Amino acid sequence: MNNFQYSRANDVADVIRLLAADPGAKLIAGGTNLIDLMKENVERPSRLIDISRLPLRNVEETPDQGLRIGALVPNSDLAYHPLIEQRYPLLASAILAGASAQLRNMASVGGNLMQRTRCAYFYDTTTPCNKREPGSGCSAIDGLNRNHAILGASNSCIATNPSDMSVALAALGALVHIAGPTGERTIALTDFHRIPGDKPHVDTNLSTGEIITAIGLPPRGFARNYSYLKIRDRLSYAFALVSVAAALELEGNAISEARLALGGVAHKPWRRLEAEAALRGQAATPDHFGRAADLLLEGAVAGSHNGFKLELARRAVVRTLMQAASGTPQSQAHKKIA
Ligand SMILES: Cc1cc2nc3c(=O)[nH]c(=O)nc-3n(C[C@H](O)[C@H](O)[C@H](O)COP(=O)(O)OP(=O)(O)OC[C@H]3O[C@@H](n4cnc5c(N)ncnc54)[C@H](O)[C@@H]3O)c2cc1C
Ligand code: SF4
Repeated sequence: MNNFQYSRANDVADVIRLLAADPGAKLIAGGTNLIDLMKENVERPSRLIDISRLPLRNVEETPDQGLRIGALVPNSDLAYHPLIEQRYPLLASAILAGASAQLRNMASVGGNLMQRTRCAYFYDTTTPCNKREPGSGCSAIDGLNRNHAILGASNSCIATNPSDMSVALAALGALVHIAGPTGERTIALTDFHRIPGDKPHVDTNLSTGEIITAIGLPPRGFARNYSYLKIRDRLSYAFALVSVAAALELEGNAISEARLALGGVAHKPWRRLEAEAALRGQAATPDHFGRAADLLLEGAVAGSHNGFKLELARRAVVRTLMQAASGTPQSQAHKKIA
């Protein structure tokens, strides 16, 4: 590990000042991703700015009946928060599908959104990787790409975003609240992560010198008909090959509102409004769910080792929508797929 300076920030203004003073600085919250990357020599910050004691740990109701979740709320606290369990169980379920209990106790909401890809070449500093070292090439395109993207990839990078929480947040229409040198701003979660294009080293639309302060949830929580299904190599503990966040509002068997997002298939949570529009007004049947899956997966392209994801993703979408429609969401405690 390289030498680095350490500062503890007292408030958000302090963070912004410290970031402006040292362009090589990185924020550290729970440290569960950043410290691993520093040990592997992938990340080499000149300074760590410890934000773990900032007062960003509250979950508060907003005047519009939504919620504001502080960026430092631990993943476990969020998953088991009564307002999340009761009103946004899709989010609770996605968080509990990720990592382990110990990791979720440390991991923060902001850190979860900012976690970096699990592409093995990104971690292996002996191999070319455009994300780690821009312009060096992509080892995965002609290498082992079983876990890699089938949607939104580029000739520069085919990595996937590993976050489970972000997939549910995308489906729920969450907002990301940001503070920086020019003030505060808010962007949609679906606009927060980027597709790689020719700049795969840039994961998100967070600008230099900015910090995530909170996540906003709109009032609509889809608490009755939802499911988060995560398909992975080991049920106990692994990142998603494919995951699906599905949420429906039903009038009888007719769908009045639908939300659908995929994880494990792209550089960002994958949501396509056309797929959701195709479900509105339709009966909740496997045929209609299959049509929505086809729309969501339109344009999908497989690499040499991940062709199985095309059919897996389609089937997972249909299964997750069926779970949501029947009010029998996937259990994250008993992971057998219903
Ligand atoms: C073995 C293992 C298994 C895992 N399995 C899963 C899984 O199945 N699913 C899943 O979703 N995740 C999984 N994770 C990832 C885990 O969820 C993340 O490591 C965690 O959420 C990161 O949060 P943190 O607070 O520890 O971030 P840190 O490691 O402290 O920071 C990560 C990044 O976020 C930046 N950052 C942190 N807070 C902010 C902020 N407020 N504003 C701007 N930037 C910020 C940091 O600068 C850093 O770049 C796993 C991790 C491990 C180690
Ligand atoms: S897929 Fe992206 S992260 Fe993986 S080696 Fe290629 S450029 Fe690097």
